[in-house]
Amino acid sequence: MMKEYDVIIIGGGMAGLTAGIYVARAGKSVLVLESNVIGGQIVNSSSVENWPGDYRVSGADLMKKISGQATELGAVIRYEKTTKISKNGEKFAVVTDESEYNCGAVIIATGTEPRKLSGKQAEDVGERPISYCAICDGALYKNKPVAVVGGGNTAIHEMKYLEGICSKVYSVHYDDSIPKDAEAVFVAIGRVPATGYLDGFVELNGDGYVVASEDCKTSCPGVFVAGDCRTKSVRQLVTASGDGAIAAAGALDYLRK
Ligand SMILES: Cc1cc2nc3c(=O)[nH]c(=O)nc-3n(C[C@H](O)[C@H](O)[C@H](O)COP(=O)(O)OP(=O)(O)OC[C@H]3O[C@@H](n4cnc5c(N)ncnc54)[C@H](O)[C@@H]3O)c2cc1C
Repeated sequence: MMKEYDVIIIGGGMAGLTAGIYVARAGKSVLVLESNVIGGQIVNSSSVENWPGDYRVSGADLMKKISGQATELGAVIRYEKTTKISKNGEKFAVVTDESEYNCGAVIIATGTEPRKLSGKQAEDVGERPISYCAICDGALYKNKPVAVVGGGNTAIHEMKYLEGICSKVYSVHYDDSIPKDAEAVFVAIGRVPATGYLDGFVELNGDGYVVASEDCKTSCPGVFVAGDCRTKSVRQLVTASGDGAIAAAGALDYLRK
């Protein structure tokens, strides 16, 4: 039998977990679907300095506390990738790579993902491993030559980290070719919204962000959006958390009506 929840939250980063806390505290059943690592993009950050009340906390520690808080309050977390959402009469059907669920309201909180290489640079890489996180994968290339693609702050940060581990770190800018002797390629060319699975279900802007204002309502009644994947000017932990609370309040209000 298909499992049913009051609210399904797609994405277990700061926005999704905050929404989970609010929905669970309101006494509603809530499922958080996470395709990768609970906690989202901040878990690889060694020090967060602007989360109020927890100065210089590691991203992993911060998100461990918040996911623990959500589950203790009753949120259910499942590690499944959402592939489709559709409206099924009064209910929504959420399909994942493993299962299918029904719910009364949906909160989209899938954040952003690293932009992938394209064109000539993607061809240059060939069969070599690609990583989007030096802290996660740098140690695999101890004393080996690697390349970092990108010219922004993140790329510089990744290079500095890898210089302490690898025998050589090549800096590869936009359109440069990737040196043949680099054994792995670290890519830091920005992030894009993780909204491909929505496929016309709600309105997206030209860059793929879910169109919504501060009320976190999408073009589909009953579907809310929180965090970095929505149109907004400041993409930070506190704004993702604030969105989570607003989207949860909107979902609860929608269920009442
Ligand atoms: C290196 C780095 C450092 C940063 N440092 C700071 C900082 O110091 N302070 C600060 O305030 N902000 C910082 N940020 C920004 C901050 O991390 C983001 O604003 C915040 O994490 C956004 O949270 P979110 O929940 O919207 O999205 P995310 O954290 O991106 O979470 C989205 C989650 O959804 C999951 N997901 C995606 N697609 C699917 C799917 N189809 N099905 C199921 N799950 C899915 C993802 O796996 C992910 O866990 C930093 C970001 C980066 C990359």
